[in-house]
Amino acid sequence: MADKPKPKLAVWKFGSCSGCQLALLDLEDELLDIVGVVDIAHFPEATRAAVNGPYDLSLVEGSITTPHDAERIQKVRRESKFLVAVGACATSGGIQALRNFRDVKELVSIVYATPEYISTLDKSTPVGEHVHVDYELRGCPINKKQLVEVISAFLHGRKPNTPPHSVCIECKQSGMPCIMVTQGVPCLGPVTHAGCGALCPSYNRGCYGCFGPMETPNAESLSRQWERLGVENKDIIRALRTFNAGAEAFRKESEARE
Ligand code: SF4
Ligand code: SF4
Repeated sequence: MADKPKPKLAVWKFGSCSGCQLALLDLEDELLDIVGVVDIAHFPEATRAAVNGPYDLSLVEGSITTPHDAERIQKVRRESKFLVAVGACATSGGIQALRNFRDVKELVSIVYATPEYISTLDKSTPVGEHVHVDYELRGCPINKKQLVEVISAFLHGRKPNTPPHSVCIECKQSGMPCIMVTQGVPCLGPVTHAGCGALCPSYNRGCYGCFGPMETPNAESLSRQWERLGVENKDIIRALRTFNAGAEAFRKESEARE
């Protein structure tokens, strides 16, 4: 009896730095197991060969920043049974969403010697603003263990277990005292999605939100707490406008403070 074909996995890149794709390649201990159960059918960063769709699972990295990519993501969606947006770019627009707060034509005229050759959209937007997304995995870059969990979950037809709580819970889980309470260090941990194991607070550094907003963030309350710690308004705005500036909770609070 012929072997059952393996599910087809595709990895796509849009406006991004490729860091999240590298998280997949960085899975040294798990990669052989993954290749054993899925057919990596499309992954330009890693393979020259590409197998045509449809695909069982598409991992999409990057934000939508050009008219061409706005069309391309529709095609990717049509060819994918499940589509997972991976990383800050794909889930919130990424660092490139900083342009959403400015006039992009003005920026292009300043940055490029021949701006007439630049074809870009006014805003950098997450994949979910263009097509239906089955799951969003946050982080800049994503956590590779969470990526394995997402791939495994979709292959087994279950919901991925990537906790929606904040970095604060990860501090508590590892027994670390809160650096904001005990040392007065401004930290975005209370509003930031878990996934890094509270990396920055473990080095006595405030979280700067690279995993984006947690499920129910209260950015307004947290920024008032930062004020009480003596942080200037411009610095609060800057903290909210980094990797996930386009994420609704961070964007709204930064705009309210302008
Ligand atoms: S989310 Fe961060 S690491 Fe991933 S592609 Fe975007 S900029 Fe790179
Ligand atoms: S910035 Fe926050 S979410 Fe990012 S690694 Fe540091 S603690 Fe984790």
